[in-house]
Amino acid sequence: MSANAPVIDKGNLFDTLRAMVAIDSVNPSLVPGGRGEADIAAWLGERMTALVLEVEVTEIAPSRYNAVGILRGTGGGRSLLLNGHTDTVGVEGMTIPPFLGDYRDGRLYGRGTMDMKGGVAAQLAAVKALVDAGLRPKGDVILGFVADEEYASLGTEVLLRTVRADAGIVCEPTDLGVCVAHKGFVWARVDVAGVAAHGSRPLEGVDAIVKAGKFLAELEALEERLKERTHPLLGAPSVHASTIRGGRELSTYPDFCRIELERRTLPGENSALVERELQTILREIRSRDNNFRANLEMLFSRPPLEVDPSLPIVEALRGACSHVLGRIPDFSGMSGWLDSALLAEAGIPTVIFGPTGYGLHGAEEFVEFDSVVATAGVLAETILTFCGS
Ligand SMILES: [Zn+2]
Repeated sequence: MSANAPVIDKGNLFDTLRAMVAIDSVNPSLVPGGRGEADIAAWLGERMTALVLEVEVTEIAPSRYNAVGILRGTGGGRSLLLNGHTDTVGVEGMTIPPFLGDYRDGRLYGRGTMDMKGGVAAQLAAVKALVDAGLRPKGDVILGFVADEEYASLGTEVLLRTVRADAGIVCEPTDLGVCVAHKGFVWARVDVAGVAAHGSRPLEGVDAIVKAGKFLAELEALEERLKERTHPLLGAPSVHASTIRGGRELSTYPDFCRIELERRTLPGENSALVERELQTILREIRSRDNNFRANLEMLFSRPPLEVDPSLPIVEALRGACSHVLGRIPDFSGMSGWLDSALLAEAGIPTVIFGPTGYGLHGAEEFVEFDSVVATAGVLAETILTFCGS
C-alpha cells in the first residue's frame, strides 16, 4: 500500500449512514404525505460542501430534490458518475423502528439501509477517502444523488439533462457482486368491447368479460412460450395480467372489460416487439371469433440493461474487487428494473455494485455494515483506476 492510499473512515461512514436513515425520505408519489427528498438532499449537499466538492442541490419538482457534487479532476482522465437514489418506499407495516438505525450483530436496521442509503453512504465515503488522502483523480467524479427512483425516476431523468460521464456505477445492493444486466418492462392495456343487453336476452348481448377470458388464456400460453427464451444472467422474460375491470351489474351483459398487463423484457426486447406479440394474439382470436373486438394501447416502458463485460469500467471494478475483497466476483443479473438503464440509454455505460442486506421494501430491512465499508473501499480504488491518478 502506498503512503497515501485511500482509507475508508469507518466511524464516519457509520455515523453518515445512521444520520441518513434518521432522515425520513419516503417517496410522496408512493405514499401520500411522504416527506420527499428535501431534507436528505440538503444534508447531503452540506456533507459534499464540507468535502469541498462543487455542489448543486436542485428542486426538480415541488418538494423533490437532487443533490449533485463534483470532485473536479486534474484533467486528462475519464469521468465517472456514482448514482444513488435517496428516496425510500413507505414504512407502514414495518416491524422495526424505521428511522432509528439500530445496530446489532453487524447489521444496521432501518428503512432504506439496504435500498439504498447504504450504497449512497459508501459513495460519499469513497470520495471522502480520496479527499482525506489528498488524492485527486485525473477525471471528474460526479456524485449524483437523485430523487424518485422508487416511483418514476424523475431524479435521474433530470440529472441526465445536464450530466454526462464516461461510465456510471449505481450502488444498489448486489451482495458485492458485479451486476451487468437487468430486465426492462412494458405496460399495456387491452380494452375488450361487448354489447350491453338484459341478462335474459343472450341473442342481443355480447359478454365482454368472457371475450376477455380468451385473451387471458392466450396470455398464459404466451408466458409458456417466453420460457423458451432465456438470458444467461436473467433467465426468461415474463408476462402477467396486472389489473382487470369490467361489467356493470349482475343482470346485464357487460359491454366493456379492461385488462392491464406487464411484460418483463430481456436485453434485445422492446416495446415494439411486445406490441407485435400482443397484436398477433388479438388477430388470432379475431380470426376464430367474429364477435371479438379489442383495442390495444401501449402505456409505458423502460429498457433492459446489458453491459459489455469487457468495458473499462467493468474491468476497473473487478480489479478493485480483487484488490480490496481478495476475490474477483462473478457477473450477476437482476430481475428488477433500475435507474442504470436510463444512464446506459443516455450513453453512459453503467454497472451496479453495492452492499449486502435483507428486506428491501419489507417489514424488516437491514444492511451488513462491513459490506458498506467494502463497497466504499472498492469504489475508491475503482475511481483511481478508471479516472486515472
Ligand atoms: Zn433501490
